Amino acid sequence: MSHPVVLISDPLPTRLTAELNEDFEIRQCTGSNRAALLAAVPEAEALIIRSATRVDQEVLDHAPRLRIIARAGVGLDNVDVDAATRAGVMVVNAPVSNVTSVAELTVGLILSMFRHLPAAHASVRAGEWRRADFQGSELSGKSIGILGFGRIGQLVAERLAPFEVELLTHDPNVTAEFAFAQGVGWMPLDELMSTVDVLTVHVPRTPATTGLIGARELALAKPSLRVVNTSRGGIVDETALASALAAERIAGAALDVFETEPPTHSPLPHLDSVVCTPHIGAGTREAQDRAASTVLGAVRNAFLG
Ligand code: NAD
Repeated sequence: MSHPVVLISDPLPTRLTAELNEDFEIRQCTGSNRAALLAAVPEAEALIIRSATRVDQEVLDHAPRLRIIARAGVGLDNVDVDAATRAGVMVVNAPVSNVTSVAELTVGLILSMFRHLPAAHASVRAGEWRRADFQGSELSGKSIGILGFGRIGQLVAERLAPFEVELLTHDPNVTAEFAFAQGVGWMPLDELMSTVDVLTVHVPRTPATTGLIGARELALAKPSLRVVNTSRGGIVDETALASALAAERIAGAALDVFETEPPTHSPLPHLDSVVCTPHIGAGTREAQDRAASTVLGAVRNAFLG
């Protein structure tokens, strides 16, 4: 009996995909190469992707046998989920695969800002020894605002608690009782903005959250505010953030995500008070392996039960 054809169109660790070899016919292609994808997809019953393969109506039209699209990661921006649903194709992803990685990066970025780590490192590498220029601040005793108290927001709270900080959150879908049980105070957004020394953003990007932190919200902040965004670009309005930082109305920002990536035309990476990373929140070996294992398991279940 022939095995179902599984097409893997973005790189996945072969030590993990090998688990499917017995029950499936594994084929590979480069999904970012449109012609190669359209040529390979007609016989596929399962398509496993990461972020480089775009699955739209045209791909679905070429894939009459397709039953499942499995995204080894979280974001489904590269999949037309409505079109897949209309075509009767199941779409699965791995929503919790990288939450620990993002939470850990968030803590790292906060410490990097408080102790000027990127600038201090660059200075030593340049042969300098300017100890007085890198006086930082302790995190201990500061107020940390967690915007969005979902999976990542809660992991960030757990990881910051040992630093002896005051933890606060704003999340309309979380009760004050729920937050309090985890040692975190709940506040309306405006009150949070005017209270905290760090605001770390962990909400999804939706029409309602785009520009959620804008000029009005930043105007409420204390001069000590540092903003961290490891969620999605555009939730913090970049123009408003850049002008608050340039005018030293707030103290700093750490950004893993940008409205446009790479942020070629943004002034933010060039400001001394900003620490930047190139959207590496999920970029750990553990997160990538977890994502791959989750979707390989989903494919197995879809065919073998
Ligand atoms: P989640 O769905 O578990 O939590 C999101 C929380 O945001 C929810 O509790 C929700 O109620 C809350 N929320 C929604 N609207 C809000 C608002 N207006 N104000 C305050 N809170 C609001 O999601 P998660 O797993 O914690 O992930 C959070 C985000 O992190 C994702 O949506 C994604 O954009 C981002 N992310 C980034 C990376 C990266 O590589 N940097 C990787 C993974 C996830």
